[in-house]
Amino acid sequence: MKVYDPFENFLTTFNKAADYLGLGKDERDRVAYPERQVEVSLRVRMDDGSVKTFEGYRVQHNSARGPYKGGIRYHEKADINEVRALSAWMSIKCAVADIPYGGGKGGIKVDPSKLSEGELERLTRAYADAIYPVVGPYTDIPAPDVNTNGKIMGWFCDEYSKLNHSFTPAVVTGKPISIGGSLGREEATGLGVVIAAKTMLSNFGVEIKGKKVAVQGNGNVGSVASKYFAKEGCVIVAASDISGAVFDESGLDGELLRKMAVERKLLSEYPLGKGGKFVPGKDGNQALITCDTDILVPAALENQIDAENAGDVKAKYVIEAANGPTTAEADEILEKRGVIVVPDILANCGGVVVSYFEWSQNLNRYYFSEEEINERLAHKMKAAVNNVYGICKKYDCSLRMGAYITAVSKINEAAKMLGR
Ligand code: GLU
Repeated sequence: MKVYDPFENFLTTFNKAADYLGLGKDERDRVAYPERQVEVSLRVRMDDGSVKTFEGYRVQHNSARGPYKGGIRYHEKADINEVRALSAWMSIKCAVADIPYGGGKGGIKVDPSKLSEGELERLTRAYADAIYPVVGPYTDIPAPDVNTNGKIMGWFCDEYSKLNHSFTPAVVTGKPISIGGSLGREEATGLGVVIAAKTMLSNFGVEIKGKKVAVQGNGNVGSVASKYFAKEGCVIVAASDISGAVFDESGLDGELLRKMAVERKLLSEYPLGKGGKFVPGKDGNQALITCDTDILVPAALENQIDAENAGDVKAKYVIEAANGPTTAEADEILEKRGVIVVPDILANCGGVVVSYFEWSQNLNRYYFSEEEINERLAHKMKAAVNNVYGICKKYDCSLRMGAYITAVSKINEAAKMLGR
């Protein structure tokens, strides 16, 4: 199997956008490469008394438009190359979403399901201690990402606040509501995915109602997306997680998919009706990518649509809820085949948009209702989608390229104004 370097993937797309904009080498260098990369060794006391060392990372990609912003992922395959690419995508995403941040990303190489709650807390606190010197409410603001959640953000906030000798909720977003989290943040990414899909399809004169949808990944993003796609009158024909994939032509229950995710139940336990079937493991996930659907929503990890399966994708629209689910080669194949891809940096920016609302509420100490947050989220998402669509028409390019052109020109302009 081919191994993809996600940062190379980023550079390929970035350089194409820079070509459209006619940028020279200096301009490319100041936007493309990370400003700082931090690697830390985390020594954690395990429950059995032994001490284990874990690798952690924080990459600060670009700060020309504001403080670094981006999540922290706990994954056994996390490494500095992956985190570097993810940090670059955050710079692009925040510019596309038009929120005043640069991009950053963090990670720890760990399978958190193998740790006890106490071990997870000690690991998180060790990570917060280690990156304390480079984060802060006006410097770099982490958030949840793959396998991290509000509880983990709470520990991070507490550790930072202790070191800082003052309660500092604005150092991290995606917190529980009781310590300054924002209403609507938990569902923001998944809800934003559906708003992005609906808005973009309407630009193509297509109604979302009645469309078949397949969602890869039933986590915090995928399950919420399923719930809201179903609310829009779509038919969820397939959903998957690590246990495998469930298929049902007559439609899966969106609310139930969300409930199962919240209760951490695997889809192998989904109560399938007569026409439904379950395909276990990786085979199920592969079958989902190429199943008969109008809309395909990869909402799991990177590189799920690659050169090997892109030719068999039957969906007319791919809405990238995950970060980097399509390799650069696959992207070309899909484009040639006329598949419309709403890229990650646009489709899934709802999470960081509500993180921005959370941060601003923390700094202002004034909190909004869930209704107000969702209204503002919809407004931001629609504006971002319609703006990218307009740029694509102007440059006659793909949506991904339109999003990159928008972002790269904004970041480059800001860097120029700062004299960088
Ligand atoms: N991890 C999410 C993302 O990739 C959210 C980041 C944030 O809220 O800062 O967009």
